This record gives sequence, C-alpha cells and structure tokens, in this order.
Amino acid sequence: MAVTKHASSPRRAEWAGRQFVTALAPDFGGDMLRRGDDGFEAATRLWNGTIKSRPNLILRPRTTRDVAAAVRTAAQLNVPVAVRGGGHNVAGLATCDEGVVIDLTAMNRVASDPGRRRVRAGGGATWGDVDRSTQRDGLAVPGGLVSKTGVAGLTLGGGFGWMRRKFGLSCDSLVSVEIVTADGEVRRASEIENPDLFWALCGGGGNFGVVTEFEFRLHPIGPEVMFALVFYPIEDGREVLKSWREFCASCSDDVSSLALCGTVPTGDPFPPAAGGRAYVAIGAVHSGSPQEGKAILQPLRELGAPLCDLSAVTPYVDVQMAFDEDYPDGRRYYWKSLYLNGFDDEAIELVLDLTASRPSPLTTVDVWQLGGAMTRIAPDATAFGNRDAPFLLGVESNWVDPNNDEENRDWTREACSKMARFSTGLSYLNFEPETVSISRVGSSRSKLGALKQRYDPRNLFRFNHRI
Ligand SMILES: Cc1cc2nc3c(=O)[nH]c(=O)nc-3n(C[C@H](O)[C@H](O)[C@H](O)COP(=O)(O)OP(=O)(O)OC[C@H]3O[C@@H](n4cnc5c(N)ncnc54)[C@H](O)[C@@H]3O)c2cc1C
Repeated sequence: MAVTKHASSPRRAEWAGRQFVTALAPDFGGDMLRRGDDGFEAATRLWNGTIKSRPNLILRPRTTRDVAAAVRTAAQLNVPVAVRGGGHNVAGLATCDEGVVIDLTAMNRVASDPGRRRVRAGGGATWGDVDRSTQRDGLAVPGGLVSKTGVAGLTLGGGFGWMRRKFGLSCDSLVSVEIVTADGEVRRASEIENPDLFWALCGGGGNFGVVTEFEFRLHPIGPEVMFALVFYPIEDGREVLKSWREFCASCSDDVSSLALCGTVPTGDPFPPAAGGRAYVAIGAVHSGSPQEGKAILQPLRELGAPLCDLSAVTPYVDVQMAFDEDYPDGRRYYWKSLYLNGFDDEAIELVLDLTASRPSPLTTVDVWQLGGAMTRIAPDATAFGNRDAPFLLGVESNWVDPNNDEENRDWTREACSKMARFSTGLSYLNFEPETVSISRVGSSRSKLGALKQRYDPRNLFRFNHRI
C-alpha cells in the first residue's frame, strides 16, 4: 500500500499506522507514538515553528536493530519515511504527512577515545552532546555554531563551524558511519568500506539511509579559546565591514570569522543604551592558544567605537552555546543562503540596505568567512562539492507572529535575488528553507544520482533535497 504525502484521508492514515505497527512490533524494542497517544503532538513539533505535519506514527528506536526493523517494514509496506536527528532542519525535512518518522533522539550516545583521537556519536546526538564529551580531553570535532543542532543533518549536509578554516567542514572530519540503507541492511561506510556511499554521505544529505553512528577524527582545541564578539553601530557599518574584509584577506587559518547585521536585544548582557539599536557585529574564534588568539583578534575589537564588546577568553563549550538563546524552539524561521564570489564595496552597501529593510528585528544578515582548510580538499573528493567561494551570505529571517509569515518569506527571497549578482549561483544545502535540487549545492549530480539508484531505488528516503 502506498501512503503518499497528499493522501489525507484520516481513516486510510489510521489503517496504515495499525498495519505498520503490527508488522513492526515483533522486531522493535523502542517507543512508538501513534496519533492520539500522550506525547504524540509534542513529538511532531520541530525547531521551526512554521512546520506543521501529521505523520501517522513516530518511532523512537534505541538500537541499530530497531532502526533496521523500522526501515525494513517501511520498505515492505511502501510507507514514506522521514528521519529525525536534531530536528533543526530549516526546511523541516525531519517530518512528513501520513508517513512514519524515525526519530533518533534516544540514540544520542557519545563515546570519545582521546588516545586514538576518535569519537563515535549516535545518529540522534547534538553538537552539545559531542562537545561536552570530547572537551573533557581538550578535543573537538568541527561542529556548528549552535549546540542544539543535530550532528546528523549538519554533517550530512557539510557543516560550517568556528573551526572550519583550521580543520575543514564537519564532514571532512568524518572517518566512518554505520548506516541502515533502504533495503534494511546495516552497512559501514568509510574511505575503505563502501567508499562511494561514504563519498555521498559527505554532503549529499539524508538521501541514502539512516545513519545510526558517526565516527569522527578529533582535533585539539580549548578547553579555552579566544572568542571575539563585538557589536558596532550600523552607522559605522560601512567602515567596519571594509576593515573586516581586509582582516579576512590576511588572517591565518587559525581564525574563522563572521559578520552579522541585526538589532541588539534588550537586557543582559547588553548595556541598556545599546538595546534596540541596529548593529554590525564581528564574531571570530582563534583555534590556537588563548594568549596568541587575544593578540590576533584584537584588531577586530578596534574597528570603531563598539556598542558592546563581549569578547573574552572563553571555554570552548561556552563558545559553542553562545548563540543558543537566539534560536528558541517554535519560533518562525525562513533562511536562505548564497555563496559569494567576493565582498566588494557594492555588496557591502547592499547588505547594509537589506539590514535596514528587515521586516523583523530578530532577523540577521550574515556573511561567513570561508576558505582555509575546507578549500584544500578537492571539490570532487566529497559530495559537498562547492568549496572555493570566499564568503557565504546567510539571510536568517526570524519572527514571532504567524500573520507576518509571507512578509518575512517574501523579503528573504527578494534579499537573495538582489544579492545574486555577487554570488556563485550556488547555495548551502543546510540553509535551504524548502526542498531544492541538489545541483544547487554544486556537487556531482550524476554521481549522486547513480548512488541513489543503487542504495535507494524506490526513493524511500524522499524527504531530502532532490537528487
Ligand atoms: C539554530 C541553528 C543553527 C545552525 N547553525 C549552523 C551552523 O553553524 N553551521 C551549519 O553548517 N549549519 C547550521 N545550521 C543548519 C543545520 O546544519 C541544518 O539545519 C541541519 O539540517 C540540522 O541537522 P539536524 O540533525 O538537527 O536536523 P534534522 O531536521 O533532524 O534533519 C535534517 C536532515 O537530515 C536527515 N537526517 C537527520 N538525521 C539523520 C540520520 N541519523 N541519518 C540520515 N539522515 C538524517 C533528515 O532526514 C533531514 O533530511 C543551523 C541550524 C539551526 C536551526
């Protein structure tokens, strides 16, 4: 029986759920939540409050065997499957209507082996889970900037963090995975075992199966690093952004930095006079010794007269949580991105104009400094593909009132079309607010297509960017 995203009869949906449960039950040791069960509604919610969906069934496996049973049953009954790691995908790809959600939240075990400089993380682990474990030994995997995001979605789509220029993307530190493919088989993939599948998992998203375990290479960092975060008044934005661009042109790969344009929140830790003022902020992390980092990042603290300077030598785990509060669960989000060819004076003017025209004060226009280690990997070595752009524009629309949905979405799309002339034409898969063709991210579509055909010919894992 085929259950499609648009087959919306409640009776049909109920029947599909019951049949699935009967087939699965003997082999499944995790939790099952059906419509009407306590906790079902809460379990359907994702980080992005604009995403509403009604799966028939939510499965919370505890083991790889549970995952394999769920995938086999879904394949037998031809029921669509969505996979949830950290649930933070902007486009809401971790859920579906009338299918089954395999929610890996309970599979978040992290086992660090500092001697071998390796860490294994379950398919439902968050970056906070990983950082807390590995930082006990002053080691880390390059993860994202917010600790509550999932290791899975972020790594399978690439992964930009504060160490991207020193140690590359998150997927560049991946050593191997354990994965349940669409035929229900448990496989390992690495540069040696199933190397084509491993290639596809480094940037091709969740198209190829359910990753039950990630094994990463660890890098020495922390436990304290120099973290710069300086807010300048938008009136000085032009000079600040030009000076930051000059800094980016000459800094070493130890530094990864980011320019953010937004509105200063009111309350701690911001001084009362700064609250509500538009800003251009520069954030940066130096991945070497804190003392050296302090001197190297000092120029970023002297680009004008700051509204507020939160820079300090900071525990690495705290740096990884520095932006957590800015992205609460359930708020309304619509993000887009573009890789930029450069960041010339005209692009700076446009970023400042766009900042002035944001419909929501919670929205930010961000420019990420790229380059460094991530460019030293050949473009065809991973499915991630596009590695050459010097900057990434992120337009992050964040708002509260559902009545403002269209205004914010329209503005975001328009902002990106205005910036398109400065871009390579490609965007970052993990910042896409809707399903797009994977060719938008610049990887080899034909190779990905052949691998999709081999590992998931019936497109069981269809809630992903299209191959
Ligand atoms: C607040 C916030 C901050 C962010 N910061 C950064 C950042 O600093 N750097 C960056 O690069 N990105 C960042 N992102 C983007 C982030 O990489 C994506 O949103 C990513 O999809 C989140 O992964 P997840 O596991 O939480 O998502 P989910 O919504 O759970 O899943 C995302 C996709 O991956 C698939 N998937 C999930 N788990 C598995 C699994 N175990 N096996 C196979 N497929 C799976 C899902 O089916 C879905 O297609 C941020 C996002 C948010 C919301």
